[in-house]
This record gives sequence, C-alpha cells and structure tokens, in this order.
Amino acid sequence: MKSYQIAVLAGDGIGEQIMQQALKALRCIEQRNEVSFELIPAPFGASAWFESGKSFPDETMEICDQADAILKGPIGLSFEDTKKIPLEQRPERGALLPLRRRYDTYANFRPVRLPAELSHFSPLKEEIIGAGLDLMIIRELVGGVYFGKKESGVNAQGLRYVVEQLEYDEFQIERIARVAFQTAQKRGKKLHSIHKSNVLKSSVLWNDIVAEVGQDFPDVQVENVLVDAAATYLCLNPGQFDVMVMENLFGDILSDQAGGVLGSLGLMPSACVGPQKSYYEPAHGSAPDIAGKNIANPYSMIGSVAMMLEMSFGMQHEANNLWKAMQSVFVAGYSTADLSKPGASVTMVGTDEFGDRVVAALEK
Ligand code: NAD
Repeated sequence: MKSYQIAVLAGDGIGEQIMQQALKALRCIEQRNEVSFELIPAPFGASAWFESGKSFPDETMEICDQADAILKGPIGLSFEDTKKIPLEQRPERGALLPLRRRYDTYANFRPVRLPAELSHFSPLKEEIIGAGLDLMIIRELVGGVYFGKKESGVNAQGLRYVVEQLEYDEFQIERIARVAFQTAQKRGKKLHSIHKSNVLKSSVLWNDIVAEVGQDFPDVQVENVLVDAAATYLCLNPGQFDVMVMENLFGDILSDQAGGVLGSLGLMPSACVGPQKSYYEPAHGSAPDIAGKNIANPYSMIGSVAMMLEMSFGMQHEANNLWKAMQSVFVAGYSTADLSKPGASVTMVGTDEFGDRVVAALEK
C-alpha cells in the first residue's frame, strides 16, 4: 500500500472550516484506494504567531520538510487586525513568502473553470460566458517585486521613501516559460504570455526568453498581451484564453480577477509546484468578513486536494472524481452563499453541508 505524509496547515479565518471539508474528501478517497494519508496538522500564519510568536514556527518547517506534500489553507487577518502583529511576522511576510522560498515553488497553477451548466454563477452575460470557461493561469511565484530587495527610510529631503526592486534572471523566466509551454502542449496548443514591455525592462527580458523557449515548442502558438489589455479581455472575452503565463505580481492580480469572472474566489484552487516539493492552497485569502459563519465555499480547498492527488500522488482518476463530485453538488441545485444570486432557485448550503454532499457524491 502506498503511504503519503501530508502537512496540514489550516491557517486563519475560514481556513479551519474549509480544511475540514477537504480532509473529509481525502479520507473518503483513502478508504476506497490502496493508499494511506498520514495527515499532520501544523500551525501557520497569524494563529501560529498568536500561539508562539512565529507565523512559520520551526516545528511546522520540520513537518513540511518531512511531508510528501503540503495542504495549506488561507492565512491572514483583516486590515485592522494585521497591525497587531510586527511587520516582519505578518502572515505573508513571515510565513507565506518564506514557505514559497523554502521549497522554491516557482510554478503556480490556477485553474479557472466553469462548466457550461454553471455559467450562471458568473457575473458576465450569457453571450460571453454561456459556453463555460476552462483556462489555466500559470503564475511565476518566487520572483519579481515580491522577492526583490526592499529598502525604506527618510531621504535627504526629509521625506519618507520606499524602494522595492522587481528582479528576475533568465533562469527564473526560462523555467516558468517551459512549464507554460508544456502545459499548453497538453491542452489547446495556445499560450498567452502577459507582459508590460512598453514600460518595464523586466518584461522585455521576459518576452525575449519566452520567444527563445518557444523555439522548442513549434506546435504552440504564442500571443504576447499587455497586462492592462489582458485585464480587459478577461472580462470581454475570457474564452479566447487557454493557458496564460505571467510574472508574480501580474498573476496575483489577474487570477483574482479571473475568480471574479467565475463568480467567486471560492471557486479558485491552486497548486504551487517546486523542484522537490509542492504545496496546494486556495488562491484566495482568509476571508475575515465571513470567518466562523459556516458560509465559506470550500470548493477552492477541496479542489486543491484534487490538484494534490493528481500532481503529487499521480491519482488522476480520483482527482477527476473529486472535480465531478463537487460540480455535481452545484448542478443538483445546491450552492454556497457566495454564489447564490437573489431570486435564483437554488438551495443554499453551509460549508459543512457542502463538504458532506461532496463526500456523498464521491461515495455514489
Ligand atoms: P480574501 O481573498 O480573503 O477575500 C476577498 C473576498 O472574497 C471577500 O469578500 C471574501 O468573503 C470572499 N471569499 C474569499 N474566499 C471565499 C470562499 N472560499 N468562499 C466565499 N467567499 C470567499 O481577500 P482579503 O479580504 O483582501 O484578504 C484577507 C486576508 O487574506 C488578508 O490578510 C490577506 O493578506 C490574506 N491573503 C492570504 C492569501 C494566502 O493565504 N495565500 C491570499 C490572499 C490574501
């Protein structure tokens, strides 16, 4: 029997509640396969800081080092509550970026999927989204301005100033471009590379390297699109995209916009893949506005399990079953609050009930 260790970092806000649903699904899959999942919970994020004074405690690092994969819930606090934590220990700076750096998880896959039967979840008009959507956003995750040198202080004129550098080298761009071309090759053989080369020199290098890597993939058609235009096209004609690749900051923003196109960030799982280790997390944050209310949509967290099954454990068949189970709950007319529109004939269910219904659909 195969056995995998999974570090479970539930995180903050809605993290614990959506993680519980993900673990229910994982247990169900374990029961009907020749596989065992050893789930090892570990503190991470703001809750870890309040407990121990570290948002990425040493014990969590050890658990993650040992694990075959990491399942991570969202972390973070509201704008006001964040100020209770010293700057360098705040969840993103003290935990999330160090996690990404530690495992060099440079390739972030963010599937943006809405089957035609669920296109009514989108705020876009029927003529734009009626056929559904299936695109893959690939975001470079360990470079760019988030990881560049930072400096702040008071300048010679007595003014407070800040400098944050956007840094990339050709190795970083090449490896994410290669992942994007390989993904495009397996899908529609079309790749949109997102850039801002009319202003940023980093994008000039980005475009050069994408063109060089593209020579190894002559069957993939590349289109270079300015990031500002891409934001517009995502609303006006998202169906033109199949695989999109972009640097870190652009990917952070455009993938949240893509969540809006689907109708909720609760529909956005993701995989963060490194050379040795990968971790899986919803693309959204800890949603402090709805934490503790049993109304968060756990699709993003359960979908992250599906991505882990496929990408870390080679369990493609069960990953597909999980996607189908989740979609079947929506198709049967159940919906979490984020996707329920006034006047729509859906039965609203809470986070726990959605998880139970996914498990029931899996068991069928
Ligand atoms: P958010 O992504 O938490 O929430 C934005 C909106 O989407 C809110 O209205 C929220 O209710 C809704 N939403 C998000 N996930 C949902 C779900 N599963 N079901 C239903 N609705 C959902 O963004 P925010 O409020 O700007 O940030 C909150 C905290 O999360 C901040 O501290 C931020 O830094 C952090 N954050 C963490 C991550 C991460 O852990 N990778 C990512 C983004 C933001």
